[in-house]
Amino acid sequence: MDIEEAVKIIQGNNDFVLTTHLNPDGDALGSLMGLGLALLKSGKKVSMVLPYPVLASYQFLPGCQHVLQPSDVLGRFDVGIILDCTEMARAGEKAQDVIENTRCLVNVDHHISNQYFGDLNVVDPQAAATGEIVCSLLVRAGITITPDIATNLYVALVTDTGSFQHQNTTAKCLRTAAYLLDCGAKHNLIHQCLYEQKSLDSLRLLSRCLESLALNKSGAIAWMTISQDVLLDSGAVFDDSDGMIDYTKSLKGVEVGILFKEVSPGEIKVSFRSKNYLDVNQLAACFGGGGHERAAGCTVQGRIKNVEALVIEKTEELLAASCGGPKR
Ligand code: 5GP
Ligand code: MN
Repeated sequence: MDIEEAVKIIQGNNDFVLTTHLNPDGDALGSLMGLGLALLKSGKKVSMVLPYPVLASYQFLPGCQHVLQPSDVLGRFDVGIILDCTEMARAGEKAQDVIENTRCLVNVDHHISNQYFGDLNVVDPQAAATGEIVCSLLVRAGITITPDIATNLYVALVTDTGSFQHQNTTAKCLRTAAYLLDCGAKHNLIHQCLYEQKSLDSLRLLSRCLESLALNKSGAIAWMTISQDVLLDSGAVFDDSDGMIDYTKSLKGVEVGILFKEVSPGEIKVSFRSKNYLDVNQLAACFGGGGHERAAGCTVQGRIKNVEALVIEKTEELLAASCGGPKR
């Protein structure tokens, strides 16, 4: 991991463009705006670019007002920094055009499936979140972390660790979180904004989603499905399904949880989570996706029932082949 090189690039340049992956989650947005605000505070010229507006549920993040559309930015930048993104295509075509038109591209990420596509790759699969790497970068670059920057980076950590519950919650992650609280991250505000502002429609969707829960014969695989019909019926939007997949894993005996979402007819977004030993990054890669060992995803084309059957068959196969078996 070339973190010292990245520090030099940050210190030695003045003109930056930043982006992250499509459908950005808390780590993507927190890392983007945490780093963006820090560079702005250091007196640098910074454009934070996203192809779509920031989701309403994340608009409490300080710095949202600085986010630009790709069509708002012109010309060539000295440095492009892409955050939390495994491969160029996941930035989306328009942001990709902007980020590729730079003299130096820095790829900052923590996914094990990262494709090392930057001129410089600051990739650390041990990091709980990209926000954790951004925090190290800022400390090494001697940039003061203000409460607004800390709030963004803390959101990155909270969301990617499932509120410090997932296996990626390391001592370093908790030390980083404590440091960010010392820097003024607003824990109460963050917790309420992320977890206590749900719409009634989103809870209706949860109830429909739980109704769809199914288990394979051995009880090691649990899955749920949200079809277009169910979504429309509930009045919710797909972003409201964030975190619902965790219910599959909450069942005793389940090793792999899967959520199928029919994002449009014939296009199924599949999310995977595993509890102890199945490498779901490898499973998602069988369908052209990726992620981490315990959380990954992919998009599969086909009718929802067919995609379910295909994916569950593959999951059974990898489970049977995982010679390590349950590690207790
Ligand atoms: P989620 O299931 O929450 O959408 O994603 C879980 C993890 O897998 C995240 O780290 C996310 O970046 C990654 N992921 C989800 N879908 C895809 C995909 O289609 N391709 C790749 N490379 N990673 C994905
Ligand atoms: Mn992440």
